Amino acid sequence: MSAAVRTIAEFRGLTKTFGPVVAASDLNLSIAEGEFLSFLGPSGCGKTTALRMLAGFEAPTEGEVLLDGEVVNHVEAHNRPVNMVFQQYALFPHLSVFDNIAYGLRQRRPRPDRATVKEKVEKVLEIVRLEGFGPRRIWEMSGGQQQRVALARAIVNEPKILLLDEPMAALDRKLRKEMQIELQDLQRRLGITFVLVTHDQEEALSMSDRICVMNGGRIVQVGTPRELYDNPRTRYVAGFVGTSNFFDAVVAEAGPDHVAARLAGGQHVRGKPGFAVKTGQEVCVSIRPEQIALSREAPEAGMSEPVTILNRIFLGEHTEYLVRSGTLGDILVLVPRQSELNAGTFNVGEEAFVSWDENALLILEQ
Ligand code: ATP
Repeated sequence: MSAAVRTIAEFRGLTKTFGPVVAASDLNLSIAEGEFLSFLGPSGCGKTTALRMLAGFEAPTEGEVLLDGEVVNHVEAHNRPVNMVFQQYALFPHLSVFDNIAYGLRQRRPRPDRATVKEKVEKVLEIVRLEGFGPRRIWEMSGGQQQRVALARAIVNEPKILLLDEPMAALDRKLRKEMQIELQDLQRRLGITFVLVTHDQEEALSMSDRICVMNGGRIVQVGTPRELYDNPRTRYVAGFVGTSNFFDAVVAEAGPDHVAARLAGGQHVRGKPGFAVKTGQEVCVSIRPEQIALSREAPEAGMSEPVTILNRIFLGEHTEYLVRSGTLGDILVLVPRQSELNAGTFNVGEEAFVSWDENALLILEQ
């Protein structure tokens, strides 16, 4: 992170245990002011626990949470400049949209006067594009509208950081896409820091400035979506951020920029190391499906493998092939529409060759 970027929140050696369960383990992370950061990982990996410690709903077992450079471990949630949007929105169904949003403002001491409350609520209703919906009851609102009310309620107190715990989980796919775009737009307009928890890689990839990938209570890698996609450090990250093919291999020769490895079938490949490797080490070779070419003839240069076509799925822009190699096992290949128009489609049962550029191969931790 460059020196010009101010850190708004920080985790230092943050650990949380619930009895024997280690929900979060030694988390170290800096969140920059104004960024959109997502915690991404499967269910139970500790994302929500991390978010709740930032909000102040959960006290760390060890380590520190800092906001604006100050340790806030003992600052209660309602005194932190942070607000949270929950998965189920937690709206009051019997209150109007206006009163739901005004609720947080009216809890403040000193209590703002009526005109101020009205002005602030109307302003956020406009921000979330619900002008005129103030008098409506919550149950009269659609899922997408309720989600916007929840957002409006969270931003009306002008938090420095907005925490979002799977806020789109209750929406259908189309609405979720729309809300993702709206949320991103909202973040840009408000300029406040957004921290999102999600298990949906597409959501994290499309919305975040940076993604913090978690597994088993630990942070495994933090980076921009592109960094994580192009340079995952581990097999887990490569598989969670995008789709990849993995082959077991042993390092034959370890150089700083390129590593030679021997695949299980005896083939030698060269690839970029995602971490510091040693000769003789068992590693995993990763290649993305779109970086594999499928052809009827073996290319003259580079490595290629004979395969049989097992399955073909037409996806519009791409065709996805599942192919089988005698030595490497099953391989997923994504062929762009244009290449298919040039070379023709392959039929199930047909013999073909897969090939790739060695720069596309990544050598990762098992
Ligand atoms: P999900 O996506 O399912 O919400 P998550 O990645 O957010 O999962 P957490 O909710 O942070 O995961 O949970 C991490 C681990 O800690 C899990 O094993 C969970 O069962 C456990 N855990 C979380 N909260 C508590 C609690 N209050 N008491 C006991 N165990 C808890």
